[in-house]
Amino acid sequence: MGKDDYTNKRDFNKTKEPKGGLKKGNPDTPVFVIQKHDATNLHYDFRLEIDGTLKSWSVPKGPSTDPSVKRMAIPTEDHPLEYADFEGTIPEGEYGGGTVMIWDRGTFKNIKKNDEGEEIDLLKSYDMGTVEISLQGEKLKGAYALIKMKSGNMKGNWLLIKQDDEEADARRNPTSTQNKSVVSNRTMKQIEKEDSAK
Ligand code: MN
Repeated sequence: MGKDDYTNKRDFNKTKEPKGGLKKGNPDTPVFVIQKHDATNLHYDFRLEIDGTLKSWSVPKGPSTDPSVKRMAIPTEDHPLEYADFEGTIPEGEYGGGTVMIWDRGTFKNIKKNDEGEEIDLLKSYDMGTVEISLQGEKLKGAYALIKMKSGNMKGNWLLIKQDDEEADARRNPTSTQNKSVVSNRTMKQIEKEDSAK
């Protein structure tokens, strides 16, 4: 899904979301962001900088730190890199209307390798539907896989799965215990209240 979808879905006279298109990323230090989004249904938007844009998935239950848990990740339209800085409210009635929190943010490394142990290009692994990355966020760290389902009634959706490493922890439940913004330390309620008071 291209960036035009992003622009076409939004009225920038009404929403404070960024128009984007100016920021150039650095492929050596790609960023990820996870935005908690209280829209029609509460979900977590998982975004990875790939090929100059934020490839995006909507994760209804949010990420887990337990390697035995598979979280559904529904692909959504590419977002501009500027979106990694967006926290606030989208007006009711507009696309995605509701509160957005920067729940976690940081950089990541591509760790996907072929059978010979050589790194597979990030865009290529995205196109193949098997992304393997190591996150360096404030809440989430270590290896995660995103796997596209190629058959069955969930075909086209992806699964977000923590990989088993030192950062894996089946007892942690960060979506419920760490519920403040990593950029403003605000709760969803505080963001909603302060943003709509402007
Ligand atoms: Mn969303």
